[in-house]
Amino acid sequence: DTLVNQIAAGEVVERPASVVKELVENALDAGARRVDIDLEEGGVRLIRIRDDGAGIAPDELPLAVSRHATSKIASLDDLEAVATLGFRGEALPSIASVSRFVLSSRRDGDVHGTSLQVDGGKLGEAAPTPHQRGTTVVVRDLFYNVPARRKFLRAERTELGHIEEWLRSLALARPDVELRVSHNGKPSRRYKGDGQPGLPGVSSGDRLGETLGEEFARHALRVEHEGAGLRLHGWIAQPVYSRASADQQYLYVNGRSIRDRSVAHAVKQAYADVLFHGRQPAYVLFLELDPTRVDVNVHPAKHEVRFRDARLVHDFVYRTLHDALAETRA
Ligand code: ADP
Ligand code: MG
Repeated sequence: DTLVNQIAAGEVVERPASVVKELVENALDAGARRVDIDLEEGGVRLIRIRDDGAGIAPDELPLAVSRHATSKIASLDDLEAVATLGFRGEALPSIASVSRFVLSSRRDGDVHGTSLQVDGGKLGEAAPTPHQRGTTVVVRDLFYNVPARRKFLRAERTELGHIEEWLRSLALARPDVELRVSHNGKPSRRYKGDGQPGLPGVSSGDRLGETLGEEFARHALRVEHEGAGLRLHGWIAQPVYSRASADQQYLYVNGRSIRDRSVAHAVKQAYADVLFHGRQPAYVLFLELDPTRVDVNVHPAKHEVRFRDARLVHDFVYRTLHDALAETRA
């Protein structure tokens, strides 16, 4: 079974950033308001994710690290609802099969916490441990038992960069959650959590400034438009924002960060047509539409989607940004 898990890990766990992604998404699924992310050596040596969510029952800890044991699918309807959230019940067993892994948790009302160790997939005994309400996952020495995979890990800076980039894109979509990051024992990022979901920058915490910098926040044009069952809101940087910005293009479809060439093209085209500017615009845009109008299962890692009416979406995005930008010229 360890072998099966290690093979699955080949798909789920590419590098430290994919571990962080799976664990932080679990924390959010558990209703966490705050997530602490401690890293050492770009996450290769240590990833520790602590949340203040609902926790896991002591007798369910072994289940959580077993294959296809998800607590998140109660019915077929549910299966569709969670299909957007990634692999079902594979993340923890996969990660635990390629690391030295400890899962600790405590729910409201439990007299103490419980922790379970898994070493390269070998399950230990659950044992009582002091723990606050919530869950802590410790992942040490990623791929220590799979040298062929370990070989492909990059320099500390590179792996850390991937983690920080993913956290930034998450922070933009979830300003309601506080995220604290430390690297090699030093605090490296703190996103305060006092915004509303899907509305970065609207709150006093100003998630937009926290994530992309004060200059972006100052020069960002707020966009919001609804029609034909589509809703687009967010920010696009005005041309005075001087930074080269192809790396500051964030698109979310129903709250999930994705890449889409057609939408990216619509934004760039609107920018060029109004401002006669060939530059890459920086933007953070949230597109919302009925889930049945978008297929999220195109790409295994869910970075891409397929719109049922791609043309309509493209034109809606183009028109919305064109009008918003044109108004600033008027
Ligand atoms: P999935 O998220 O697809 O259910 P995972 O392997 O990521 O699968 O997690 C397995 C199960 O472990 C989850 O369904 C959940 O019940 C439990 N779990 C994992 N992480 C947490 C957490 N941080 N807080 C509460 N429960 C968790
Ligand atoms: Mg999960």
